[in-house]
Amino acid sequence: MKKTENKLEKPASAPDMTNKQIEKEEIVISEDQLSRERRQILEAYKFVNRAARPRLKGEDSKLIKKAFEFALEAHHGMRRKSGEPYIFHPIEVAEIVAEDMKLDAVSIAAALLHDVVEDVETITLDDIKREFGEQVATIVDGVTKVKSDKYAIDLSISQQAENFRKMLLGLSSDLRVIYVKLADRLHNMRTLSSMNEEKQRKIASETIYIYAPLAHRLGLYKVKSELEDLHLKYVNRQAYDDIANKLQETKAARDKFVEDFIAPLRGRLAESGFKIRIFGRPKSIYSIHNKIQTQRVPFDQIYDLFAIRIIIDKDYDEDERNKEKEDCWRVYSIVTDTYLPNPERLREWITQPRPNGYESLHTTVMSELGKWVEVQIRTKRMDEIAELGYAAHWKYKTYGKYAGRTKESKTEVFVFTPKGKLIHLPVGATVIDFAFEIHSEIGLKCLGAKVNTKLVPLGYELHNGDQVEILTSKQAKPTNDWLHYAKGTKAISKIKEFLRAERRTIIEKGKEDLAGKFAQAKLVWDEPTQTQYRLYLNYKTNANVFYEAGLGHISYKDVESFKKYLDRKEAKEEEKLRKREETKEVVEPKKDKKASKSEAIIIGEKTGIDYSFAKCCNPVFGDDVFGFITIHEGIKIHRNDCPNAVNMRANYGYRITGAVWQAKQEEQFITEIKIVGNDRIGIARDVTQMISSDMQINIAGLNIGVTNSNIFEGHIKVYVRDIQHLYGLLEKLRSIEGVVKVTRYDTEDNWEDLNG
Ligand code: MN
Repeated sequence: MKKTENKLEKPASAPDMTNKQIEKEEIVISEDQLSRERRQILEAYKFVNRAARPRLKGEDSKLIKKAFEFALEAHHGMRRKSGEPYIFHPIEVAEIVAEDMKLDAVSIAAALLHDVVEDVETITLDDIKREFGEQVATIVDGVTKVKSDKYAIDLSISQQAENFRKMLLGLSSDLRVIYVKLADRLHNMRTLSSMNEEKQRKIASETIYIYAPLAHRLGLYKVKSELEDLHLKYVNRQAYDDIANKLQETKAARDKFVEDFIAPLRGRLAESGFKIRIFGRPKSIYSIHNKIQTQRVPFDQIYDLFAIRIIIDKDYDEDERNKEKEDCWRVYSIVTDTYLPNPERLREWITQPRPNGYESLHTTVMSELGKWVEVQIRTKRMDEIAELGYAAHWKYKTYGKYAGRTKESKTEVFVFTPKGKLIHLPVGATVIDFAFEIHSEIGLKCLGAKVNTKLVPLGYELHNGDQVEILTSKQAKPTNDWLHYAKGTKAISKIKEFLRAERRTIIEKGKEDLAGKFAQAKLVWDEPTQTQYRLYLNYKTNANVFYEAGLGHISYKDVESFKKYLDRKEAKEEEKLRKREETKEVVEPKKDKKASKSEAIIIGEKTGIDYSFAKCCNPVFGDDVFGFITIHEGIKIHRNDCPNAVNMRANYGYRITGAVWQAKQEEQFITEIKIVGNDRIGIARDVTQMISSDMQINIAGLNIGVTNSNIFEGHIKVYVRDIQHLYGLLEKLRSIEGVVKVTRYDTEDNWEDLNG
């Protein structure tokens, strides 16, 4: 890692561009004061230790102690604008990291060291890496690189989002960088009074535009509220003091109200066997100020100055998520047995937590004094997540999707909506996942997206910091392809749900539709006939047939030909039985008169042009084909994969013409199959029976021989309706015992028709 260039931006050289509070002038300080300060420094350091202790293991406390001593030495002699020794700043940042964010030893060490590389010329990032390891160095480097003063203030919403984006991009390798940066900013805000007024406003604005929203996205509720309150304090001191004073004045009355409200609940909750904490939770000064501004009401008319919070004080196992939810609802029912709830203000964020991880159950109830009161119900774990956000997830490390979010194993990508809202998705997530994360309606109507203003397809994989705008369309709807694009379980289950529902609807519609057509053709609509029709069409299930009908793929004409086929079937029964016996006989193919009159093919966009099917490859309806102009026999239709195609294309390209199949006719196509297998008694009979009796396919010619080595080889000419029909037959034949190989029979010898 290279040393950053931030060193050039020393406070002395760019005093207006920084919020650092370093004072370098020589100040004479008495011995007395110095020893008092030393005691205070040690005192402050002890606080950090105490806050960190519950989470420390192994060498952790050694690492913190070493970082403290290193920073103490490095910042020796430096003072802040306020006059106090500089080391208080990193210690207090470390305390926020340890106490308010409950982070690990690496973060605490990095917090203690966060300013040394930037402020001490003789210390480089390599020194930090050598002394404290890669992770601490990465965080220190990240914190140093994020210079908030690079970002202008008073930006439009989208520019803010852009800033966020850059910021996260710069640090995304380790989220702890952001936490330490936020802690640094929080402490600077707490000590902002020693700066001049202009700087105060600048830093405060930056805080409200960049850092408070960032804390919010990360779910650091406490940090966010404090940053907001401090912002107000420096941009509108009068409003801040005003609200703070009024809150103070009304505190006693409010406490009384809260106590009266809580009292009956306490008893009932205790009876229910729950161990709970219940208290009034004041709203922040900043949010009260906002309410006064936006609703244009005076302080006395703001009723929700606080919410009642009920915390179920119980440790649940990881696999007891449902139990937690259940318990919250039991508490809810006790609350609403006591006070009447407002059904329109019930919010459940447990099944589906908010994007920043917040989980809680909120209701608003009517107090005895006729005042609506918000009640927040949650478990201890949920409360810690609500207060600490993602930081708390470190504590509940093994829990679900937040597990182990560190540099080594980051399992999520962080992306943004056009308005700058942070969305986290599993790594590998695509545009589709994002759309469903926003809202399932948006997912279901998703057409594509703009990522960082560029158009991208649905399957586009998102990267950290991408800003994603989903494009929707009324016509858009999920298809099977979407299942390949979606990576997250949420999107996949929603898409599947949609496709299942859609298929059900189509099947229902198709069934009704087909029943109508059967009635019209005077066919019985019962299950045996339906199954016969299914076999005739060669589908796996009757539902598949209905589905095709629902898609409009089955016409009345199709049903009519099925009827004719049934009629014919009976008449031909006798003949077929006879044929079955003639197994080892060569039957000359019927002259394929029909084919030359066929109207199944369109040549070069024209109908009615004469053609015939080439004998080398025997195309059937559905094969990819082309026309070849012969000298004496007009146009011959060959399959694209005809063994002679390469030769024709290579040598007679100018005689090749395009050909496509028309809408399906009631025509049958003659084609040849080759079967190879081990000879056994009855195999020839089984083959012909399968073809003529089971598949109801007419045999036009048959030639079966057995070699010396007992290999049986048969060439059979059959009439099929189309390629599906043919493939169905091949499949069936393969299942006969002894049969080894079944293919279409094509030949290069019959490469006749060139000159007629
Ligand atoms: Mn700092």
